[in-house]
Amino acid sequence: MNDTYLNFVNSPFGARLARSIGLPKPEVLRRYRADQPEFDGLVAIGAGREPRLLNALAGVIARTGFTSVAHQSAGLWVSLAARHGLMTGRFEPAEAGPHGRVAALIFDASGIEDSGQLDTLFAFFHDTLRSLGKCGRIVVLGRPPEACAGSRQWTAQRALEGLTRSLGKEARRGVTANLVYVAEGAEHEAEATLRFFLSPRSAYVSGQVVRVAANGTSHATTFDWAQPLAGKRAIVTGAARGIGAAIASALSAEGAHVIGIDIPSAKDALDATIRPLGGTALAFDIAAAETPAQIAAALDELGVDIVVHNAGITKDKTIARMTEAAWHSVIDINLSAQERLDDALLAAGTLRDGGRIVCVSSISGIAGNMGQTNYATSKAGVIGRVQSMAIPLGKRNITINAVAPGFIETQMTAKIPLAIREAGRRMNSMSQGGQPVDVAQTIAWLAHPGSAGVTGQVVRVCGQSLIGA
Ligand code: NAD
Repeated sequence: MNDTYLNFVNSPFGARLARSIGLPKPEVLRRYRADQPEFDGLVAIGAGREPRLLNALAGVIARTGFTSVAHQSAGLWVSLAARHGLMTGRFEPAEAGPHGRVAALIFDASGIEDSGQLDTLFAFFHDTLRSLGKCGRIVVLGRPPEACAGSRQWTAQRALEGLTRSLGKEARRGVTANLVYVAEGAEHEAEATLRFFLSPRSAYVSGQVVRVAANGTSHATTFDWAQPLAGKRAIVTGAARGIGAAIASALSAEGAHVIGIDIPSAKDALDATIRPLGGTALAFDIAAAETPAQIAAALDELGVDIVVHNAGITKDKTIARMTEAAWHSVIDINLSAQERLDDALLAAGTLRDGGRIVCVSSISGIAGNMGQTNYATSKAGVIGRVQSMAIPLGKRNITINAVAPGFIETQMTAKIPLAIREAGRRMNSMSQGGQPVDVAQTIAWLAHPGSAGVTGQVVRVCGQSLIGA
């Protein structure tokens, strides 16, 4: 789907006009492309007192191919970087700016134990923010507040959320800002998550808080960063078009064999999406009672490693005008069908231990929405599923997470009346809608073998939408 305004204000004439009459100019977001370097340029590193994550971070930065500079708050970085064979220098505002030479700002706040120590964050971002280029990345690292030893430390770590979310709103120009809480013992399990937030793959993910728990398997598992899903089999429901088709492509590009599922009437579109990927197309209505057993049987002893519950519908009306059928079908397709399919795959052992479940929720499920009582109920229920199942599934090393898209340019949102559509599109830090690929790349990160420590979480793919924030 097309954002005519964004294209216009980024054309030579449109950009001139926007400048002269003061129109907002959303940035053309830099997205991942296989033919361009994923990690490129200079990263500025800052740190609070006794940073605990810099050592692991130096390994990640060295492996990605970034170069780095150390802000004066991160004196330790210079020797750590040298140990990891990483060329590094000192951050000099004049040298790094003002032309936005820095690709990412990373601050290790893991050792901060008291609100008085938050001053180092001010010093770092005050000095460096203007040096951050278009579509730059901000990543703040901390410890999960709820695991902190005392109230002071909990308070200071929780404060990082307000800072990170505000940085995302201030920086604009396609910059994302996210906070990663890394649990003690999980220092070397955060690489897949750090890579995602430093990459153009997270172009439309901002203002998010993600927790990485110590799991043990992310670090122990060996995989190829270019094809991390090689040898994996992935179910994607609703794969014929829109976000589902993008998920199928993204997982396939990472090496997975994709089993795409969609309703029988969408069989041709499903085949057109799945055949070029060398995947398997299955025409099933996920709401039919017999479908879960049929899917489990179709997968046979080969089983499956990744299940993406993407299929979803809307039937919008205010509740007084809504029919019971519209209420029921939305809850059934968007929520109950997910439960029935997972139950069948788990009971039959079709979903293998160490697997990944990713459910597509919505910011409507977080904020509620006028005319969407059925849809918002179903999508909030999806969040409940993820939260309630994370611990029991953890016994089999299966993770379950949700993505909550905001306004994504698809046939679903093209149906929204123009004025409401334009508001939904612009009310976020990126001043534009996301693309299906933005949701797909987020799901690919959650499906990654290196994401074993990320479970029970909801990640919004909404460009830091004001709705439900
Ligand atoms: P879409 O309508 O373009 O695609 C949905 C797909 O699901 C279609 O191919 C459809 O045939 C399939 N499907 C519907 N019912 C099915 C059933 N019973 N069995 C099998 N397949 C079925 O929608 P989209 O915009 O790509 O949305 C995908 C998911 O993302 C949905 O869960 C939606 O609620 C969610 N979402 C979308 C947005 C957005 O802005 N587009 C925002 C938030 C959440």
